[in-house]
Amino acid sequence: MRTFCFFFAIVVILLLSISSVPSSAHFFHNISSLPPPLPNVPATTGPWDAFKNLVDSNPGDKIDGLAKLKNYFHHFGYIPNVPSNFTDDFDDLLESAIKTYQQNFNLNVTGKLDEQTMNHVTKPRCGNADIINGTSTMNSGKTTPSNTTLHTVSHYTFFPGKPRWSVSDSELTYAFLPGNQLAADVKSVFTRAFDRWSEVTTLTFVETDSYSSADIKIGFYSGDHGDGEPFDGVLGTLAHAFSPPSGWFHLDGEENWVTSGDLTSSSSTTAVDLESVAVHEIGHLLGLGHSSVEEAIMYPTITSGTRKLELASDDIAGIQELYGANPNYNGSAATPSTEQQDTSGAYSVDSMWGLIVLMTVGFVLLFL
Ligand SMILES: [Zn+2]
Ligand SMILES: [Zn+2]
Repeated sequence: MRTFCFFFAIVVILLLSISSVPSSAHFFHNISSLPPPLPNVPATTGPWDAFKNLVDSNPGDKIDGLAKLKNYFHHFGYIPNVPSNFTDDFDDLLESAIKTYQQNFNLNVTGKLDEQTMNHVTKPRCGNADIINGTSTMNSGKTTPSNTTLHTVSHYTFFPGKPRWSVSDSELTYAFLPGNQLAADVKSVFTRAFDRWSEVTTLTFVETDSYSSADIKIGFYSGDHGDGEPFDGVLGTLAHAFSPPSGWFHLDGEENWVTSGDLTSSSSTTAVDLESVAVHEIGHLLGLGHSSVEEAIMYPTITSGTRKLELASDDIAGIQELYGANPNYNGSAATPSTEQQDTSGAYSVDSMWGLIVLMTVGFVLLFL
């Protein structure tokens, strides 16, 4: 029996390692080190660019591509699980998803695939869902106060059950997936991103060489990497992160990650600022969900070729509700919340598959 368990453990570990092969991620020290786009070759398009062909389709239409768009809305929580595959029909399910999406992203709520909406849908973004179990915590799940001019409405959100690291864990450790073999300048991007959160809270972050025991585990992966949330190549989803206390932080190794400097002068349409994405994902690792405030770090989309590093008052109010304020923080006071926050969250149920696999491996390891 013991021999069988040992054999089984080896098989599971091999399978897991095959599905989680670290990617050789693409890093560029600054924007000028990216190769220029080749002449006469169309600029690289993201995985969702084909959705732009669906602009101005109407309820009742049947158009190739609408099923894929429904899959997109399903992935981010806007369409609940359905018993069969999606069809290419512009049905009530799709119209309702579009309206909720438009509310969450402060767009005109038309229920139509207008140009403004499709430009937004195709932006690169965080892979975490905006809605879980059908309950939106972004704009569409909130009741607007009648006297909005007197109230400051905060938009920060939490995961279901409002999970957070315990107070005794105010020092959190982080480690990089050894197989990625990241250079010092790439690692320092994450150090700077962690600093932005420790500046406003009592949390501190310390790098450790022990990947297996670190609280936060950072890794670059390509495609399917074993947690049910495959990456999709250049642009599309850029990264995702799990709620406390799992600490898993995954980034798409196929992006063109830029580690420093201004990106706005870039002729590349695919450059993504690593630090901007890291600051956002650390917010998830600490317990924040997505926010409808466009200036907030926790807003789900980012335009490629831009940098967004400063925590907004909405982010600060959210993280301080979870961990309290850093007494040494002398920045502008966080906007107080005037609205009861609900705690439905921002992570797709599908990701639980990854946790189940990891728990299975942990259990099997007990036999070794
Ligand atoms: Zn996110
Ligand atoms: Zn992942």
